[in-house]
Amino acid sequence: MTNAKLAYEETFDCVQCGYCLPACPTYVTMKTETHSPRGRINLVKVAAEGKLSLSELEDPINMCLGCRACEVVCPTNVQYGKILESAKAVLLEEKKKGMSKRARLFQAFFFDTMLPNKKMLKAAGVGVAAYQKSGLETIARKTKLLNTLPEKLQSFEKVLPDAEGLSKRKKRKTYYPAKNEPVFNIGFFTGCVMDTMFSSINTKSIELLQQAGCDVTVIKEQTCCGALQNHSGELDKTRELAKRNIKAFEQYDFDFVVNSIGGCGAMLVEYDHLFHGDSEWEERARRFSKKNVDISVILNQLSLPYKKAVNEVVTYQPSCHMSNVQKTVREPVNLIKSIPGIHLVELPQKDMCCGSAGIYNVIHYEKSMEILDEKMKSVKKITPKVIVTTNPGCHLQMKLGVEREGLTNEIRVVHLVELLAEACGMG
Ligand code: SF4
Ligand code: SF4
Repeated sequence: MTNAKLAYEETFDCVQCGYCLPACPTYVTMKTETHSPRGRINLVKVAAEGKLSLSELEDPINMCLGCRACEVVCPTNVQYGKILESAKAVLLEEKKKGMSKRARLFQAFFFDTMLPNKKMLKAAGVGVAAYQKSGLETIARKTKLLNTLPEKLQSFEKVLPDAEGLSKRKKRKTYYPAKNEPVFNIGFFTGCVMDTMFSSINTKSIELLQQAGCDVTVIKEQTCCGALQNHSGELDKTRELAKRNIKAFEQYDFDFVVNSIGGCGAMLVEYDHLFHGDSEWEERARRFSKKNVDISVILNQLSLPYKKAVNEVVTYQPSCHMSNVQKTVREPVNLIKSIPGIHLVELPQKDMCCGSAGIYNVIHYEKSMEILDEKMKSVKKITPKVIVTTNPGCHLQMKLGVEREGLTNEIRVVHLVELLAEACGMG
């Protein structure tokens, strides 16, 4: 065996049955074995044996969304996430050897400086808000200035969330007491991109938790969850961020650590996977991971003070990471059903990824749009008025799907928290 860093042993759990093929979005759209879970596992196995060059592994691994839908349907419980992670790390190591100094500095700036830096991200969010509210956005659209941008930037510009400017952005306090007899003591995980571009969803999440009977603490020492670093194969950087979060939260005796971000939540519940065999960190990471839950898990156990009916046809697009990694499936559905007036219609093939997958839609724009177009075929079969999401990445991607289909006046895309807050008569 020539590459001991690849998860070789894990590849033997695959019995090549092919049950995972119809669940895999890249296999469904590309119809090639090398872009299926089974094919990728095989490639990692032969690469670990030294019978395949790493360059031949590159495209199949890079094109994987990391949605982990294959794990859920696999009868032998193949740990695909672990196999994928090892391949990404090995490929990144190889890529770095041929990277220019400038490319390496940019990558380090993005992962080490920008993502974990709250001030820098806040400035970016305020910048977007200024662009949207100063009239610049209208001018850029009217004068067709945006047409000079590459296609993918034009697309994302159209679906930018309404960012909050400095005056509207609520300064986070450290402590928010329950509005009635406290049931749970919660530590709230804000996330980095979430607290920048979707800060109002975090604000509403905290308010809902308070209304439902939770004391909520937002600790300042928390940092980025490390999901984007992990998906890129930057395992050391991911471990660094994980240690900072574990250290920060373990100082408090929280019943749960709660977030409203499907993708980040999936990273947080798997921190223990990062420290196998590490005598100092493995147990601490396991304790931390166990306390992490999506907000729907908490709200589903409590009751919310609904004030108005939402008389609309609603569908739910689950976040892959929330369903397949966090295994949070029924709670968001229960909560949607609990809203007065709601008519929930199940989205056909709801478990198929929407093509967002972290920054997959930025890096592999065309493939991601192909997957999104498949998703929109399902949406058009049921013509909902509202699509509910639970992750900022899925949220933007579904907005993009609606925009591409010319349905922006017919369908609105909302985060579950926004829908619950609306029914509770909040802001
Ligand atoms: S990953 Fe699981 S479902 Fe897919 S071929 Fe292997 S054993 Fe079968
Ligand atoms: S993680 Fe998703 S895209 Fe990747 S092999 Fe599994 S099902 Fe396919």
